[in-house]
Amino acid sequence: MRGKKLYINTIGCQMNVYDSGKMADMLYRANYQLTDAVSDADLVIVNTCAIREKAVQKVYSFLGRIKKLKQKNPGLRLVVAGCVAQQQGRAIASRFPQVDIVLGTHAVQQLPDLIQELEKHPRQIIATEMTDFIDEPGPADFSCAGLSASRDGIISDFVTIMRGCDNFCTYCVVPYVRGREISRQPQAIIAEIESLVQAGIREITLLGQNVNSYGIKENLTSFPDLLAMVNAVTGLERIRFVTSHPKDLSDALIEAFGTLDKLCNHIHLPVQSGSSRILKKMNRKYTRESYLEKIEKLRAVSPDIAITSDFIVGFPGETDQDFQETMDLIDRVGFDSVFAFEYSDRPEAPASRFKDKISPEIKHERLQALFKRQKEITRRLHEALVGRRFSVLIEGASKNQIKHTADADAVELTGRTSENRIVNFKAPADWGIDIDRRKGETKGVKIEAAYSNSFWGVVADRPEMR
Ligand code: SF4
Repeated sequence: MRGKKLYINTIGCQMNVYDSGKMADMLYRANYQLTDAVSDADLVIVNTCAIREKAVQKVYSFLGRIKKLKQKNPGLRLVVAGCVAQQQGRAIASRFPQVDIVLGTHAVQQLPDLIQELEKHPRQIIATEMTDFIDEPGPADFSCAGLSASRDGIISDFVTIMRGCDNFCTYCVVPYVRGREISRQPQAIIAEIESLVQAGIREITLLGQNVNSYGIKENLTSFPDLLAMVNAVTGLERIRFVTSHPKDLSDALIEAFGTLDKLCNHIHLPVQSGSSRILKKMNRKYTRESYLEKIEKLRAVSPDIAITSDFIVGFPGETDQDFQETMDLIDRVGFDSVFAFEYSDRPEAPASRFKDKISPEIKHERLQALFKRQKEITRRLHEALVGRRFSVLIEGASKNQIKHTADADAVELTGRTSENRIVNFKAPADWGIDIDRRKGETKGVKIEAAYSNSFWGVVADRPEMR
């Protein structure tokens, strides 16, 4: 029986999801059990994101909610972690006296010690010092008992391979709040992956702000060579990675999609804009043409590869012509799906001082036009997949049970293809009702119906797609 309850609110990118997982693991060993109900918690962590104004507002409103809970339960402890914590440090502690610990992006490993310190001497603690090394977890952090228990039922997990960024895109605060690029030792990464596989994980996503430049600065193994090492881990089924900077997508990495059997047939390659003029203002260091060339090379190696991307619309100075170039690039590439956002000023980021800001109305209009175009492309791509057979890694019971079948006793499962597409399907009758044991298995599924965000299928032999 665990002693204390921990609630984590994670806002933002997968790096934050990873850090939240690490905090949950560390605190599990300190006798904390995760809860879904914030009102039950003894300790609340909000892991914050500073990338857009909306995400920062979310943090402030959450802190307001916790203030009320603390009035009812003065023993409740509150930690603010992540990019807003790093960026605002002492200011967030002064503005929100309900905060007990401000945990910067380089201080995650210190959390259990800081909580102990807080219990001994209650006061606000600010831990936002930046370091130029990565705290490697010790052997005790890889205890399989702890990992299995804290990751019960999960088959897919993240592993950070590097931290920070050296690119200084003009709209982005990451280099200021996460620091400069630094890569982990390949042996430590492999050891962590082996432990996760022993704890039941089947799919690993390698994480970094720019994984393509992994190890270059430290003269370590190259990223494609690291992928080959991960590919050799026994028991691991699938490998994914995010995020890739297009300028650093090497031919060797493109080749890896043709040679590594566990590397998933999907790449997230954020382009941000289809206009070379805007890309230059963003300091992205590639052009529309060089981006399209890399897409061509990827498709030459893996014709069915799923490609997803990120866009910022309404960057300062973006003309109608620039936006049309973005729409044209979307048509040419045929992305599986995209994330797109209206540009917003971030304090510290150079673009906040750029002139020629685009009005909120135009930004909104362009974003809606982009979503509409992408929706049509996704629909066409999805419809073309009906009748094809994919390997699906089963994640568990579908949340939308009995949506697709009239059979009241049918159990619906959900999983993902190598291309990261969600597929729901009916469990064959001879699988019984204990479907939990199917989690982590890979099955062939024939697609019968396509929707905007998922597919419906039936179990089929001999998937044509890995
Ligand atoms: S590559 Fe650019 S957008 Fe990505 S984290 Fe680095 S500075 Fe930010």
